[in-house]
Amino acid sequence: MSEKTEADSEDEDTEEGPWSVESRIAPPPLSCPKCDGLLPSALGELSCVLCGARMKIDHEVTRRDWEDEKLGCPKCNKLLVVGIGERPANVRCGSCLCDFEVKANVPKSEIQCPGCERRLRLRTRPGTRNVTCPACDTGFEMTG
Ligand SMILES: [Zn+2]
Ligand SMILES: [Zn+2]
Ligand SMILES: [Zn+2]
Repeated sequence: MSEKTEADSEDEDTEEGPWSVESRIAPPPLSCPKCDGLLPSALGELSCVLCGARMKIDHEVTRRDWEDEKLGCPKCNKLLVVGIGERPANVRCGSCLCDFEVKANVPKSEIQCPGCERRLRLRTRPGTRNVTCPACDTGFEMTG
């Protein structure tokens, strides 16, 4: 059962969508001044997911890199400069005129499964959590 509903019209040439790309630039990893835990990979007003402390984080260099970041349009592959110093950002491709979202970079870290020694690339997240290896089903703890 996958009937297409014609909710909002006017998207004749949208084959898939919404279009988005992930930014390759992440702010530097910072730790919470209160609990020393890893802070979310973002700039601006944020709160520590571990202790709830709120703070404002800014980083000029990252903002400048974000502005100058070159990304391929997800639809026509044309390289374009984002020109916006924040993530996520909405940009329009000057070539195919599609609007797309430049998403915040998702930091990943590589860890080795203690069961099968396979290297896994997993999202970095504050705190410790349990993960399961997709290959051998070994459950283990991951920090960060
Ligand atoms: Zn904290
Ligand atoms: Zn394009
Ligand atoms: Zn494994």
